[in-house]
Amino acid sequence: MKIAYFCMEIGISENIPSYSGGLGILAGDHLKSSADLAVPIVGITLLYKRGYFIQHITPSGDQLEAYPYFDPRGFMEPLPFKIFLQLDGRKIAVGVWKYVYQGMKSKVPIYFLDTDLPENLSQDRLITQYLYGGDQYNRIMQEAVLGIGGYTILKKLEPNITTYHMNEGHAAFLTLALLKDFNGNEHKVRNLCIFTTHTPVPAGHDRFSYDMAWQVLKEYLPQNIKRLAGEDALNMTILALNLSRASNGVSELHGEVSRQMFPGHEIGHITNGVHHLTWTGPEFQRLFDEHIPNWRSQPQTLREATKIPDEAIQKAKKAAKKRLISYVNSLTGAGFTDEMMTICFARRAAAYKRATLIFTDIEYLMNLSYDRVQYIFAGKAHPQDQAGKDLIKQIVEISKRYEDRLRLVFIPNYNIWLAQLMTQGTDVWLNTPRRPREACGTSGMKVCFNGGINMSVLDGWWREACKDRVNGWAIGDDEDQPDEEAAMDLYRDLDDMVTTYYAAPKKWTSIMKRSIADITPFFNTHRMVLEYLHKYYL
Ligand SMILES: *Cc1c(COP(=O)(O)O)cnc(C)c1O
Repeated sequence: MKIAYFCMEIGISENIPSYSGGLGILAGDHLKSSADLAVPIVGITLLYKRGYFIQHITPSGDQLEAYPYFDPRGFMEPLPFKIFLQLDGRKIAVGVWKYVYQGMKSKVPIYFLDTDLPENLSQDRLITQYLYGGDQYNRIMQEAVLGIGGYTILKKLEPNITTYHMNEGHAAFLTLALLKDFNGNEHKVRNLCIFTTHTPVPAGHDRFSYDMAWQVLKEYLPQNIKRLAGEDALNMTILALNLSRASNGVSELHGEVSRQMFPGHEIGHITNGVHHLTWTGPEFQRLFDEHIPNWRSQPQTLREATKIPDEAIQKAKKAAKKRLISYVNSLTGAGFTDEMMTICFARRAAAYKRATLIFTDIEYLMNLSYDRVQYIFAGKAHPQDQAGKDLIKQIVEISKRYEDRLRLVFIPNYNIWLAQLMTQGTDVWLNTPRRPREACGTSGMKVCFNGGINMSVLDGWWREACKDRVNGWAIGDDEDQPDEEAAMDLYRDLDDMVTTYYAAPKKWTSIMKRSIADITPFFNTHRMVLEYLHKYYL
């Protein structure tokens, strides 16, 4: 058995800008757990020399994007060969960089494909330059390099692949390369492929006009492509669904939503997780080493966390919080303190995540929070997403306008490093998506490994994990709520939470412990990879 794991972004290290958000982090964590468990797998993605952007925020709250040059040579090795693809009537050279991730039990290679080679036209050297930066034409070229180029390269480097795992539809052109190799035998292709979808929103599924697809992929498009990929446009998700032996969504609810979106397809679900060794901070690592010695190889043993003494949990949390607060103060001068309850909200600034919901009734919020709660926000908006940028601007404006009445800061440049600092340091992780738009969500899981507590709408993973007021707080109930109503429920929970934190510290600590003990044993990528292994890989 050997799995080839294809993904447009793989976030394996804070040093490599090859991811933009949840999808890439999940891909990285999937490969890391596979390496810890000795599941034979290789990763394949693109090398972005000007990866996802660095975010600067101007004093008035505007997002500026910078794309500094990333030199891969410090982290990976260029392999001494290249392949050639026939795309849009041109011959395009594709090179490969090899990165090796060393896990607890095995090594996992990740191959980064690169068209920035001297023999390519300057426009083609740019194909792999930016992550999610270009137009439709750049996107189809990127996806052709990933799917078809990736397949071609693996034939050389990793023979005997038994399953091609397409993580999101971006990689679905891989099926066309396979079809070509097997003379159009769909049955054979289907036997080799599995597919994971991540997006419960129709607009999130890539579609290309058949005009463009013919122009770029002539060599690869079978006669019956419209039957395989949709009548009106080439839909990458439909193509992947039609040519996979199994498909899945990434939480129970997302599985249901996906079955409604794509009737006639069998779609299961495997709930996402996070790599516990990446996301547990040094304070809680030491604590677990002392009290739950097998947690590194068997994260499910963290269910014993209830036996850790209260004072030890509180001490570890305080130390992790100190690190976060020091960074915030050094950056902003805001004078935050590790004595005060801290709430973080950090995620891509996409409208459906409703970052500003908590500001619905600002007077109420300020009265409730005065000298009791401090708020740290972060998140990048996609460069072309004006609505997302407006959200950031609003938050920055609120933080300035009410600076003497509300402890609120926006910290720039959310990335793996900052996500670690925030999920490790915070008391509370706030999440207010519009149901059911958060396919799964993973940042809240990271918080549980560090004794933090979630307060979230019952969407994605939290719907499966939450025991209200026992291991966290549920905002609203198991249905979609309009903003006004969700905001009222949020304030009610916040009130309860603040009271518990200050008036019932023992209760608070017991919720911290249940957050670890109830949630982390399941919501980790070791469990997730083993589920993929037993359901789909074997
Ligand atoms: C974990 C993580 C995400 C995903 O978080 P969501 O819960 O899906 O919002 C996004 N970006 C970074 C940098 C992360 O570490």
